[in-house]
Amino acid sequence: MIKIVIDDTAGYCFGVRNAIKQSEAILEEDEYLYSLGHIVHNETEVNRLKTKGLEVIDHEQLKTLKNSKVLIRAHGEPPSTYETAYKNNIVLIDATCPIVKHLQKNISERTALNEETNSQVVIYGKKDHPEVIGLVGHAEGNALMIATSEDIKNINPGKDVHLYAQTTMNPEDFTRIAKEIRAYLTEYDPVNSRQVFEHNTICRQVSNRVEGLKIFASSHDLLLFVSGRQSSNGKFLFSICKEVNPKSYHIENKDDINKNWFENIKSVGISGATSTPTRQLSEVADFLKILFL
Ligand code: SF4
Repeated sequence: MIKIVIDDTAGYCFGVRNAIKQSEAILEEDEYLYSLGHIVHNETEVNRLKTKGLEVIDHEQLKTLKNSKVLIRAHGEPPSTYETAYKNNIVLIDATCPIVKHLQKNISERTALNEETNSQVVIYGKKDHPEVIGLVGHAEGNALMIATSEDIKNINPGKDVHLYAQTTMNPEDFTRIAKEIRAYLTEYDPVNSRQVFEHNTICRQVSNRVEGLKIFASSHDLLLFVSGRQSSNGKFLFSICKEVNPKSYHIENKDDINKNWFENIKSVGISGATSTPTRQLSEVADFLKILFL
């Protein structure tokens, strides 16, 4: 018999939970609600909300919409979205996560000081990620976005660097990038190199799970990690599982499960991203029970 255990630290982070709750509350009163982009990087959850009346729109559709209600998801939006909404008489249901809001404000205030402090704002994140697009927008075009070590060459070596991170980046990668930027500035001017100020803005809701997840993943013969393929924190947290337990599998839902994985397996751990509700973890556990118990 296989032992099946759900990670009790898994489930929605408060930012995503709040966005889902707000959308559900509106959909109880109204027949539909527009969401600017997928409310969460989790296809299964988006489909569940679509059946309740959630309609996903993009920024082009927002421009043509008038007199409606539109939800801003936890990732946040650049100021241009608020301007479009104002022009088109759109009521925004702003579910931007408070942590992201705080980061947007910090970046906006910091970039305003660029000139007088001879510094520059650099945001380490994933190219085209909605949160990063929002952050760059709040910098009013005065921040440089970098996604890889390759991009460091675009930094002006004659100015101090204020380095920020997208909230779901890997903390070790952030530290490495900061080190590489320092090396780049020193190489340019070994005597009076400019400084790097690290603002580690990675969300603790993600990074605080790392140690516990390592213990959980390594204490089972096999680990199923449930999350949308596009979820940044999902990719990161899954990589942690894989590191400590090679028999870790990333699945979106029970349909991705392959029975052949379970040969000689005595215990299975089930965990997920901050965008995976515990309901989805239970569904996977129930499916395994039907298969193996
Ligand atoms: S991961 Fe953190 S920053 Fe992102 S939505 Fe959740 S609580 Fe907010």
